[in-house]
Amino acid sequence: MKIESQEISLPLLKEKDIRLFVKRLDKVHPFISGNKWFKLKYNLIEAKKLGHDTLLTFGGAYSNHIAATAFSAKANGFKSVGIIRGEEHLPLNPTLAFVRKNNMELNYVNRSDYRLKTTANFLDKLKTQLGDFYLLPEGGTNELAVKGTSEILDGGDTQDYICCPVGTGGTIAGLINASNNKQKVIGFPAIKGFDGLEKDIKNWVNKQNYKFINNYICDGYAKLNKELVEFINQFYLMHNIPLDAVYTGKMLFGVLDLIIKDYFPKGSSILAIHTGGLQGNKGMNERLGISLPTEL
Ligand SMILES: *Cc1c(COP(=O)(O)O)cnc(C)c1O
Repeated sequence: MKIESQEISLPLLKEKDIRLFVKRLDKVHPFISGNKWFKLKYNLIEAKKLGHDTLLTFGGAYSNHIAATAFSAKANGFKSVGIIRGEEHLPLNPTLAFVRKNNMELNYVNRSDYRLKTTANFLDKLKTQLGDFYLLPEGGTNELAVKGTSEILDGGDTQDYICCPVGTGGTIAGLINASNNKQKVIGFPAIKGFDGLEKDIKNWVNKQNYKFINNYICDGYAKLNKELVEFINQFYLMHNIPLDAVYTGKMLFGVLDLIIKDYFPKGSSILAIHTGGLQGNKGMNERLGISLPTEL
């Protein structure tokens, strides 16, 4: 699949002699957002091959992965079950209203039980309760997901640096595997304290040309401040690229801040991966009374 990369034009980039491109995974599919399309691709094939009729996965109440799984399941003829962290709140937020419309069955678990979700005991109980299912981990990251995300880059993506937001690491792992040895891959984590993640990523990748920059988490996972909201709205006005507040907004804020601070050598080119996630802005707007962009 050929995905459009949009070059960003800014006086800052001219001044620093840097070229910046945004690869628009947000345009890959209207409902299977961005990187989730790639992460689900081979898992859907595998679930079918194994003869499953139900997909089960986990996530928070605003999760892009939950939304993408619900839509993909329905489109591919699977039933789906979402194990949601926390209690039910009515009316449903925009994410959960969307997944219910796509027939996902929702199962709420409290936060302490949610922590046990990967244990055999917890999964056995679910199987007794719900019957057999194909399990997608939280965030959708597994080996087949990494196989999918290694298809994000194509031969035209020859920039010196590849930047992307990081949650569970499945996306950056695929990018690392698909990058060439001269390229550097830089991950911008959206979650504080992810030691386990670095270990996981080591298991999935075939080279070491990557690093993480932890300075742009902005108060924590899914936390926003005024500066970030203003940045996202301004970026949308100037470049017509909507960014989400959890991942891509923080990553691009970080990339531009690093350019200001001369992190990238003069003459270098950067490809920032827009991983999608715009559906999450609807919930943010509703909850916080702000107006982040929600559409292309
Ligand atoms: C899920 C998600 C990520 C994180 O991807 P991982 O593979 O878990 O690191 C990044 N950006 C967006 C928009 C997402 O929805």
